[in-house]
Amino acid sequence: MSLYDSQTIKIYNSLSGEKEIFNPINEGYIGMYVCGPTVYSNVHLGNVRTFMSFDMIFRYLKHLGYKVRYVRNITDAGHLENDADLGEDKITKKARVEEIEPMEVVQRYTVDFHNVLNILNFLPPSIEPTATGHIIEQIELIKSIIDNGFAYVINGSVYFDVHKYNETNEYGVLSKRKLEDLIHNTRTLDGQSDKKNPQDFALWKKAEPTHIMRWPSPWSDGFPGWHLECTAMSTKYLGDYFDIHGGGMDLKFPHHECEIAQNCAAKGNDPVKYWMHANMLELNGARMSKSTGNYINPAELFSGDNTIMSKGFSPEVIRFFMMQASYRSILDLTNNGLLASEKGFFRLMDAINIIDDLKTSNSSSFNVIEWKQKCYDAMNDDFNTPILIATLFDAAKFINQVKDGSATVTKEDLELLKQTLHTFSFDVLGLVNVSKESSGSDKLSGAVEILINLRKEARLNKDFALSDKIRDELAEVGIKLNDSREGTTYTTN
Ligand code: AMP
Ligand code: ZN
Repeated sequence: MSLYDSQTIKIYNSLSGEKEIFNPINEGYIGMYVCGPTVYSNVHLGNVRTFMSFDMIFRYLKHLGYKVRYVRNITDAGHLENDADLGEDKITKKARVEEIEPMEVVQRYTVDFHNVLNILNFLPPSIEPTATGHIIEQIELIKSIIDNGFAYVINGSVYFDVHKYNETNEYGVLSKRKLEDLIHNTRTLDGQSDKKNPQDFALWKKAEPTHIMRWPSPWSDGFPGWHLECTAMSTKYLGDYFDIHGGGMDLKFPHHECEIAQNCAAKGNDPVKYWMHANMLELNGARMSKSTGNYINPAELFSGDNTIMSKGFSPEVIRFFMMQASYRSILDLTNNGLLASEKGFFRLMDAINIIDDLKTSNSSSFNVIEWKQKCYDAMNDDFNTPILIATLFDAAKFINQVKDGSATVTKEDLELLKQTLHTFSFDVLGLVNVSKESSGSDKLSGAVEILINLRKEARLNKDFALSDKIRDELAEVGIKLNDSREGTTYTTN
């Protein structure tokens, strides 16, 4: 018997708009596809949040004993500006601006993406396919869609015929949009497009002579549409019907809607049983986004080298902060929120780290078995990590009571408590056990605060030689002081 036999998971399925009991298509096996990054710039914390939500889900499903094949792609071609059919390819544009090869752009930001995810203790997916590695599969899909009468060719480009499709299928099933409303709300195009209708979308685009990333096809030398690559890669590795498809909420329409339409048009079915969407990370009350400039990169948050936070925060604290919100809620990244998470994180780790020093007795004043099931119940309820963390804190509180003698625990219960805390904190949430002492962050910030105050005194005494010496020598060991009207903060590198 596997652990999953004793636990019933409910997943919020965006398609039905309800929490549904999770039953995998093949018992014991799960196929999960998550839309990966477009590697044209450094990944920001908003992107990280979506991938971390699915990392947590992957971890929990694995913990339950499922054999999970987790596919997360790399978009290295075909994603045009504004997520639309006009405009420049995001990667090509970056290559032009930086005067490097598009594949250099791809390499640089794929490496950055992996580095950031490693630092944040992500598990690697089972397969990480690239769009450019699956051009043939995409061409085959387009042929099927054309053969079935749902796409048309104009001037070397191929477009999906949304109106034709909607005659026999429902375009908008996932996003709950109606084609009539879409027609009503779309401005007429400015004549640059060959499309029959503005709602149609590109499956294949003929490349302009200057477009570097191009492949031969029956229709033109060109490149595939962004939506198509996910249909090709998900079904190639997970089959024509698979369990979970995830991505950020912003991808529900048009990206995922188009994925459904493409697969239905090519093969007659929506390939996905459970559609899952992770909610957005906000900064200053607005969605974090590269295009609006409202974003912060992970490195800037780790080092404290930014104008938003009072100091740097460790990767463990950032992970804990994100896990304190449900993956389906909007989360606002704030200095106070991170400071509170830092405290909470160390409180939990401190409790875990004193377990081995506790005295045991012959009775327990805490029902560990019931508590353990509460941890599972939280995760079974659509991966409710904030409830899980609150439940972990119940145990931390009990551990502190045992320490100060106001509660008792048996040896067996203590062992089960320890094991369960480790499982949920490290295996499922993906936290890393860093104690306050070993992280050194507290001692370091204490010492730097002392030096900042000494420097302030020196300046008040007009001893600028000493104040400069403190600043310069700290800089030499990698601690940079930043003066502002609010006072002095520091960053480390
Ligand atoms: P992109 O590289 O723009 O294709 O985005 C990669 C992933 O990050 C997608 O799944 C997006 O939904 C997700 N994403 C983008 N911005 C945010 C945000 N502010 N919060 C959470 N996820 C985001
Ligand atoms: Zn996708």
